[in-house]
Amino acid sequence: MMVKVEEDVVVAAGAPERHKGGCLCGAVQFEALGLADIWFCHCRQCRYLSGHFVAAAAVMRENVKMEGPLKWTPFTATAEYAFCLACGTPLFWRQTNGRTLSIFAGSLTHTDGLAVKGHMFVGEKGDYYQITDGLPQFERHPPGDGVRDHFNAHEAHNLKRANKE
Ligand SMILES: [Zn+2]
Ligand SMILES: [Zn+2]
Repeated sequence: MMVKVEEDVVVAAGAPERHKGGCLCGAVQFEALGLADIWFCHCRQCRYLSGHFVAAAAVMRENVKMEGPLKWTPFTATAEYAFCLACGTPLFWRQTNGRTLSIFAGSLTHTDGLAVKGHMFVGEKGDYYQITDGLPQFERHPPGDGVRDHFNAHEAHNLKRANKE
């Protein structure tokens, strides 16, 4: 059974799992309660941000505790990401006025209880790799599944780009 905690963020019902993580140097530590499942995003922003593509899981902001030298930096008109000021590890992504936060899966100490749902924004993926894991692929955002904030930020980004061209 699933329960909806926000428009499109769906987490397992029952006692939500607690996940911990942090950065490479250990200066930033965090703990999150009730992470949604993991998505791969191949959009242009995520490719710049990660150097490849991003794996991330969304969570309600109030359910994340974080400490350490975290720096939030805007990278579109409506979205920002956070990294450790000491070692540079990218850790979080969020829509500036959204209610959720996405945690980069590589910073989690474990992913017990989380599934990998699939690939989104494959229309913007790099031309140097193929996706061959058999998971669902979506040209843009998948319909109604934990990524509304992410999608909105992409829309704003794409609109801005379209207006420039
Ligand atoms: Zn660090
Ligand atoms: Zn993305």
